Amino acid sequence: MSDWKLPWSAACMCGRVKMRITAPPVISMACHCTGCQKLTSGAYSLSLMIPASGFEAEGPTEIGGLHRPESVHHFCAHCKNWLYTAGIAGGQFVNFRPAMLEDSTWVVPLIESYVSEKLPGAETGAKHRFARFPEREQYPALMAEFASQGARPA
Ligand SMILES: [Zn+2]
Ligand SMILES: [Zn+2]
Repeated sequence: MSDWKLPWSAACMCGRVKMRITAPPVISMACHCTGCQKLTSGAYSLSLMIPASGFEAEGPTEIGGLHRPESVHHFCAHCKNWLYTAGIAGGQFVNFRPAMLEDSTWVVPLIESYVSEKLPGAETGAKHRFARFPEREQYPALMAEFASQGARPA
């Protein structure tokens, strides 16, 4: 269960921004918060948290969303897809939107956050649910579970 079949290729809808993932994600998440609903124009956001050193993006992006240093939302400058959020944990991680993957058919979130703001019809298949975010001290066990049992490419 350690074969992540890296590297992964990804691109926005118009193809002007290409991304490459060379390190395994540390966790997969769905977030139901109203902020993510607005950012995605959908029911929830899906993220793969990737070490920043294992993520490359090439092509023009623009900053949108919250414009905060701890969550820098990058969008394609042309098609305006929400691609990834940088600045996570002081810049150590990027929250990448797996819908951009060349093959996203395997992606299942391990956890879902902000179910307190969840739309009634939004179901994600996540194993663990949290009213808001997990507590800081819960992350190591969740990440260990993801490393051993998290969904990965078939
Ligand atoms: Zn959210
Ligand atoms: Zn684009």
